[in-house]
Amino acid sequence: MIAVTELGYIGIGIQDEAAWIEYATKVVGMELRDESEPDRFYLRLDAWHHRIAVHRGAGDDLLYIGWRVSGRAEFEAMASQLEAAGIAFRLGTEEEEFERHVLGLMKLTDPGGIATEIFYGPEIDFKRPFHPGRPMHGKFVTGNQGLGHCILRQPDTEAAYHFYRALGMTGGVEYKRRRPDGTVSKLTFMHCNDRQHSVAFGVPLSEKRINHLMVEYTELADMGVTHDLMMERQTPIAVGLGIHSNDKALTYYAANPSGWLWEIGAIGAPAPEHHEYYCNDIFGHRKEPPGYGL
Ligand code: FE
Repeated sequence: MIAVTELGYIGIGIQDEAAWIEYATKVVGMELRDESEPDRFYLRLDAWHHRIAVHRGAGDDLLYIGWRVSGRAEFEAMASQLEAAGIAFRLGTEEEEFERHVLGLMKLTDPGGIATEIFYGPEIDFKRPFHPGRPMHGKFVTGNQGLGHCILRQPDTEAAYHFYRALGMTGGVEYKRRRPDGTVSKLTFMHCNDRQHSVAFGVPLSEKRINHLMVEYTELADMGVTHDLMMERQTPIAVGLGIHSNDKALTYYAANPSGWLWEIGAIGAPAPEHHEYYCNDIFGHRKEPPGYGL
């Protein structure tokens, strides 16, 4: 089976550009890349041309998500695999490849209606080393673990599981418990590399396509510095500091200027070889202000 290798990039729509630049660069530490395109700017986390394309005036939500395959042969094999699974896609034009800064691109839609792209050959800009938007003790965890992870809105989690399986990802339910009212809560996590999960779903449905994006630092200190900067700016922390039982990362969830969450973390554990499930986190992750699809 051909598998995607990482969550490569995402595109988001925003309204408040000044607030977003402050949040993503001065607080979280990403690098602003503005190429004077009228409708977009970029955020970098490493040597890639960009990891996040930020589209001005395009709502306040996730616009698309890009999954990488390793090369042309794997890209072509993925196309055959999708055909065999009955999943519709179309190949991107050369213009669309330039737009995404990749060599090969296909476009499809996941069962939750999320615009999904599979690509190979991202543009890596070694001429421009990553330069954080604020002083950083370490770096962002990317490399073979991709940009981070996303929790997506999926009304039909079974359909979503089978879709991401068809992309070669593996995983399943990792949190399951009976609520006091007798209903069952289940959260599904899928991985495709060392990162414990790259996509997950099963959280309550909200109006946003995305619940959160998680980014991870190599150094715990950077997670703390970001936390201090958010406290100073009175950024709403929707879920307080805690450690997940699955990825073991120390994280908290902060509202971004579009009203969805960024999970800020460090020291995550790799994906497990054998499947297991949990009823609770190790500690913390207390819900603070209500809303944010939690
Ligand atoms: Fe998360």
